[in-house]
Amino acid sequence: MSLPYPFRARSIGFPRWVYSLLVNPRFWRGAEACGRIGGDCPAPDVRGARNFFHLSSFLRNGEAGLPKSIVVVGAQWGDEGKGKVVDYLAGSFDYIARCAGGHNAGHTVIFNGNRFVLQLIPCGILRSGKHAVIGSGVVVDPVALVGELDTLAKAGIDVTGRLHLATRAHLIFPYHRQMEKAAEAARGAAKIGTTSRGIGPAYEDKMARHGIRVGDMLDAARFREKLERVTSEKDAVCRATYGVPLDTSGVAKDYLALAERIRPLVTDASELLNDALDTGHSVLFEGAQGTMLDIDFGTYPYVTSSNAIAGGACTGLGVGPTRIGGVIGVTKAYTTRVGSGPFPTEMPDLEATEVRDRGKEYGAVTGRPRRCGWLDLAVLRYAVRINGISSLVVTKLDVFDTQKEIQVCTGYRYKGAPIKEMPAAAEDLAEVTPEYRTLPGWHTDTFGVKEIGKLPRAALDYLKFISDFLGVEIGMISTGPERDATIVCAGTKLAAWI
Ligand code: GDP
Repeated sequence: MSLPYPFRARSIGFPRWVYSLLVNPRFWRGAEACGRIGGDCPAPDVRGARNFFHLSSFLRNGEAGLPKSIVVVGAQWGDEGKGKVVDYLAGSFDYIARCAGGHNAGHTVIFNGNRFVLQLIPCGILRSGKHAVIGSGVVVDPVALVGELDTLAKAGIDVTGRLHLATRAHLIFPYHRQMEKAAEAARGAAKIGTTSRGIGPAYEDKMARHGIRVGDMLDAARFREKLERVTSEKDAVCRATYGVPLDTSGVAKDYLALAERIRPLVTDASELLNDALDTGHSVLFEGAQGTMLDIDFGTYPYVTSSNAIAGGACTGLGVGPTRIGGVIGVTKAYTTRVGSGPFPTEMPDLEATEVRDRGKEYGAVTGRPRRCGWLDLAVLRYAVRINGISSLVVTKLDVFDTQKEIQVCTGYRYKGAPIKEMPAAAEDLAEVTPEYRTLPGWHTDTFGVKEIGKLPRAALDYLKFISDFLGVEIGMISTGPERDATIVCAGTKLAAWI
């Protein structure tokens, strides 16, 4: 055991990969823990097949010796291009599961010349044979869901047996939207900038234990009884707080009709995914929004109402942290933010306009122009820590093709002194001064480039600067909205996962 690895491998004469597998304690630990080898497989005839699946998963997953299960998170304020990245990665996974958020998290995916904006259904559904799961951490507006089902049906995409909806997911009702609009109006200048889709109030009800869940819709009597109780309470609150009555007319009837459309999708998503992992299937967990919008670790209160960080994959899908094999963080080559809240590297108007227009930085769902800024490595360093990011994807590199020089923020000063940590208070973050490094631009067209060797030197230097600063590999680079405008960096963890 004391000989260096190449010598050991050669002296025994196994191929090196077999030897490295057999001497790797993580493989045996993983095998033992799951009963994969010599364990309690349910029947001897499936043991061989299971072991094969687990062995192949181990080889592909590499890092933890578990079936391949990888989380994808936004490392900034959302809209990082996760839709495209997840769509690309989905080809290498059996299940694609959404863990949080609602139909405010629009993913745009373009393929075969068609543009799909999927707000609730994981975009993995666009690939035939893949399973898409909407987890219990998601809040579901059944009207929006059925609308997406119709859009997919019109495009000829059959979801039968492939789309699964968690029975524990909470429902959004029209009264949530009504209350959200009233609350935003009452906040005046201090408004959060929500999408007014009722997502925040639905999460509030979930936490206040007033929520009604997907499974409740499937039992008409139970549903009517719960709805009646909740709406009479909410009506009283709405009248007292905002001076308006709650409009609940027709809700029960409409929702019970929608229930029949979604009934075939409803399942215990946690059981589904754990079973999938147990039988050697791979799972890609898809986070919504981004780290800086996370309810706990984002720029509170200018955040979303759920956990957008990697931990949300566990809480939102009922899968334990020990089953997650890696975390991919997605960042743009620059930064954007929608709505109000602190944004230290925000660009002045003129520069922002160029980036906004080149990057088509307008909300996929709302059409709102996004605020644009330089890449903020203080934010990314924080995101790496909070999420345990093992590999980074940099999207929209092409948007910087026209920049003469690129500023990149390497840290903040607060009240004149450098600070190491991300300020917890939004008020403090609003007062930091970013420190910039200036890097040369590349002034070359990188749109649609598919090979790393074809990227200009200055673009590679920019990427290397990011990777070195954060101490994290860049596993993938995106150079355009199309699926194939993608570079997978050879030799990276990410490359081994797909
Ligand atoms: P998401 O919610 O994180 O998926 O973000 P969006 O759906 O808002 O995606 C951002 C937009 O950028 C979409 O219109 C994508 O098609 C587009 N996009 C993604 N990657 C790239 C890229 O590398 N270059 C360019 N020019 N556009 C991209």
